[in-house]
Amino acid sequence: LAQRLAQQSQLPATTTDGTRISLNANIEFPHETASCLQRGADGIGLYRTEFLYLSSDEEPSEEDHYEAYAEVIKQMNGRPVVIRTLDLGADKMGHGKRSQQENNPFLGLRSIRLSLRNLDLFRPQLRAVLRAAALGDVRVMFPLITTIAELRQARMLLNLVAEDLKEAGVPYRSDLPVGMMVEVPAAVIMLDHFACEVDFFSIGTNDLAQYTLAVDRSNESVADLYQSSDPAVLRLIQASIDIAAQTQTPISVCGEMSSNPARALLLLGMGVRNLSVPPSALPRVKKAIRNVSIEQCEAIAERVCKLESARDVDLYLLDRLTDLA
Ligand code: PEP
Ligand code: MG
Repeated sequence: LAQRLAQQSQLPATTTDGTRISLNANIEFPHETASCLQRGADGIGLYRTEFLYLSSDEEPSEEDHYEAYAEVIKQMNGRPVVIRTLDLGADKMGHGKRSQQENNPFLGLRSIRLSLRNLDLFRPQLRAVLRAAALGDVRVMFPLITTIAELRQARMLLNLVAEDLKEAGVPYRSDLPVGMMVEVPAAVIMLDHFACEVDFFSIGTNDLAQYTLAVDRSNESVADLYQSSDPAVLRLIQASIDIAAQTQTPISVCGEMSSNPARALLLLGMGVRNLSVPPSALPRVKKAIRNVSIEQCEAIAERVCKLESARDVDLYLLDRLTDLA
């Protein structure tokens, strides 16, 4: 049985009509890379680098960053690796030094905002990413982008850091693809403008649901309201997919939504061809993908976009998944 499972895990994530889906893994630590490969991941779709901070008492140096990235990239052996820059703050606050008391931390100084205001924190990471990118198929992605100005600022900093490396004669990748997370409704609303300035998008359904529904994703008393299958969230996801298609910008979904097989099929029906899921979810999502046709997924999406509540969406999806299995 173990052998059969191992064989299955190396089969491509292809639908019954032959559409190849790129099925990638989300990781937080380099040591997870081996299990991603074992489970047949096409690449690393989201490397949450902030865990380098959260797992140690001291702030990591440029070398610490570099070593962690190099370990992942070398193991992935030419497969794509998307490194997301620090997403610290709110629920992911490591050292006292950088944190401050805030009334609404999820609406506060977190993620790219925190990085852009702490360049002594951000610069070493960008240097390490640029250097490690010379070792494989690496892309960099900025989290929580809300305004065009933020994206431009982050890109400008990346360019400045690259110039420093060049002047110092340090090897780095000069044509590093740059992407952004789509996880704030404002970004979705302005996505056609963002498309002119990035190489790819990745939808973060965890934060997109939180900010669309005004529900703190970590607050248990409103957990029942926190649903990535809420029709309002689905409309924003659909709008993002449509704009990405119109502007020929690659788009993926890396939020937890894609780790639920039924919701993953819904995403395929909405037009997504690239998913990134926690390593543990790779087998079940791949199995679901290999069991359906895009036409079946499109029929699901067509029906779902007429529904009015997350509950109706999930009930319908569950029903369809049982039929298809
Ligand atoms: C998301 O917000 O959907 C996401 C993938 O990022 P994180 O869960 O790390 O905020
Ligand atoms: Mg997020």
